[in-house]
Amino acid sequence: MRTIEHWIAGKSTPRAAERSGDVYNPATGEITGKVAFATPADVDAAVAAAAAALPAWRDASLAKRTRVLFAFRELLERHKVELARIVTSEHGKVASDALGEVNRGLEVVEFACGIAQLQKGEYSENVSSDVDSYSLRQPVGVVAGITPFNFPAMVPMWMYPIAIACGNTFVLKPSERDPSAANFCAELLQQAGLPDGVFNVVHGDKVAVDRLLVHPDIAAISFVGSTPIAKYIYETGTAHGKRVQALGGAKNHMLVLPDADMELAADAAIGAAYGSAGERCMAISVLVTVGDAADRLIPMLRSRIAALKVGPGQDPSSEMGPLVTRAHLDKVRGYVDAGVAEGALLLEDGRDPRIPGAEKGFFLRPCLFDRVTPAMTVYKEEIFGPVLVVVRAKTYDEALALVHDNPYANGVAIFTNDGGLARKFQHEVRVGMIGVNVPIPVPMAYYSFGGWKASLFGDTHVHGREGVHFYTRGKVVTARWPDPRFRGVDLGFPQNR
Ligand code: NAD
Repeated sequence: MRTIEHWIAGKSTPRAAERSGDVYNPATGEITGKVAFATPADVDAAVAAAAAALPAWRDASLAKRTRVLFAFRELLERHKVELARIVTSEHGKVASDALGEVNRGLEVVEFACGIAQLQKGEYSENVSSDVDSYSLRQPVGVVAGITPFNFPAMVPMWMYPIAIACGNTFVLKPSERDPSAANFCAELLQQAGLPDGVFNVVHGDKVAVDRLLVHPDIAAISFVGSTPIAKYIYETGTAHGKRVQALGGAKNHMLVLPDADMELAADAAIGAAYGSAGERCMAISVLVTVGDAADRLIPMLRSRIAALKVGPGQDPSSEMGPLVTRAHLDKVRGYVDAGVAEGALLLEDGRDPRIPGAEKGFFLRPCLFDRVTPAMTVYKEEIFGPVLVVVRAKTYDEALALVHDNPYANGVAIFTNDGGLARKFQHEVRVGMIGVNVPIPVPMAYYSFGGWKASLFGDTHVHGREGVHFYTRGKVVTARWPDPRFRGVDLGFPQNR
């Protein structure tokens, strides 16, 4: 059985693993590998490698850093189908979806290729007589990324291309459930000419994370995952003097107004609720219908659900794959059971999936609840599976209040043909990412990604300009070349003349 090892200082680094985790093919339920779980000493070795590589990489010219990123971009483009296959084999998502995530990650690499523009400072001549002032943005040092299972290629790429482009060195702790994509990218980075030690991967669980959070040589931590862990990462990391951005969970609402194009809204809701088996932080998990929209929309949803092809991600005809693990499948099924027990109307019950030839896979067919109320568990909790709940609101204001009363605020969407109302919504809604007739409004690489409230702990979103800001810190220089006219002691506070 293969073992997925850490990648430290430019090589796969088998260590005497005291603990390891099972990696599954979610479509068959089989164990396909073991992933080494890092000890604190393994983490220390990775951080030491990153610290050793830092001085040379921090001082590498912009041209050198840019060239490595361009080469990485080319390699990624060439190997993207292979990377997507790795994602499917451990995550379970269908091949086209896996390729989609690789392409969106690739766009962040392309953004980072523009680092020479992005890391520019400002210059002011003559801020006082013969005095000039200018600002610089410099790398923060060794930075760590801790990432979730649901985008094993893309979410790390929200972080390391920009961090590395800015001159930092990086330690990635990917999800232990689908760890191989990280090692594949580490090898491509090396082939692209990245010096050994600039990018390292440690695998594992809380033990590895806890060491990163307190390690004195880690300057900044980017985290993406569930809200309780995000809060813990933020509190522990900042208490140890680190800069932290920690993106958490979500419960994204999609408002459908009575004037919306219902066919369009139905297509969008199905894709956003059941794509990647609902394991997306930007998945739509709550459909808020306004007025009589539900009566027209729900039959359209049901006919689309009936036609959905659920099957192994490797099968090109599958539209929705399995869930990531048996434990996660059981958890999601438990939510469906709870919805029924609490009185929600289960219109589509996916609990008996019957996928021919894949009986041991972690499958659940799409589930659809109607008549859900905010007091129910299926409304309150992030399910992270193919379960869509419909809440019926009488008015737009009632629908908006639901969004605002929810503790999460990652993404939200409105479907309407009323431009004025859509504009009012985008202005007043208190959520980080908004879609207008777009169900999954994931910002482009050159904008920044992030939510509000319980969906983000910290001040900066990831990638885009905020990513560059997070991975650099500012310096301002005030300079005057020696001039005999300015001799003489002056105890006054410096003033402009
Ligand atoms: P998770 O929080 O369980 O794990 C995320 C990372 O934290 C993993 O690397 C994991 O090993 C580590 N971890 C888990 N438990 C830990 C603990 N007790 N102490 C320290 N580290 C720990 O999340 P997941 O199940 O892998 O991913 C799904 C979650 O991620 C969902 O809640 C989803 O909404 C969220 N997510 C959010 C975004 C976003 O941008 N806001 C994007 C993707 C996923």
